[in-house]
Amino acid sequence: MQFKKLHLSGFKSFVDPTDLLIERGMTGVVGPNGCGKSNLVEALRWVMGETSAKKMRGSEMDDVIFAGSSTRPARNVAEVSLHLDNRERKAPAMFNDSDELEVIRRITRGGGSNYRVNGKDVRARDVQLLFADASSGAHSTALVSQGRIGEIINAKPTNRRAILEEAAGITGLHSRRHEAELR
Ligand code: ATP
Ligand code: MG
Repeated sequence: MQFKKLHLSGFKSFVDPTDLLIERGMTGVVGPNGCGKSNLVEALRWVMGETSAKKMRGSEMDDVIFAGSSTRPARNVAEVSLHLDNRERKAPAMFNDSDELEVIRRITRGGGSNYRVNGKDVRARDVQLLFADASSGAHSTALVSQGRIGEIINAKPTNRRAILEEAAGITGLHSRRHEAELR
């Protein structure tokens, strides 16, 4: 499924509504240190259903909400939406009735997150499955965070093997073999 547009509002450093258009081919994001490049990738991860605040470089999920600056007050709401091209009808059945899907995640300070797809309230799980089927998803190896390459190079061989097995798509087979051997 092709990503078409990422929209952020009140998310981390993106206090004002911001659109990132994702055209076919390669999209590059260039800018000085601290301008928000990694925040954009985190917004993608977050709207796909990330549940770990640590993976978002925070201590709690509310840390993704704009925390204020010397000139701007903090916000109490953050929202990220992702527009997907679904013309090939790759989405799970519950979402598969339109050419374009808009997935929205919204968080309110102290109030947790909620998700909508094309205006309809859905569970976090539904969104996670939508992206798991599309081989992207918050935890897939399609997203490589800053520092992760070094971690992989320095990892113990067993940990590195787990990463390679995930990339090869055989992690599921291993756990199924383990289950079969227990029987
Ligand atoms: P580098 O080139 O160093 O990797 P980068 O472009 O990836 O930089 P980011 O890490 O995406 O930069 O952005 C960091 C900036 O985002 C910091 O200035 C930080 O203060 C700001 N930031 C992060 N979370 C919030 C928040 N909740 N509210 C306001 N600003 C935030
Ligand atoms: Mg960065």
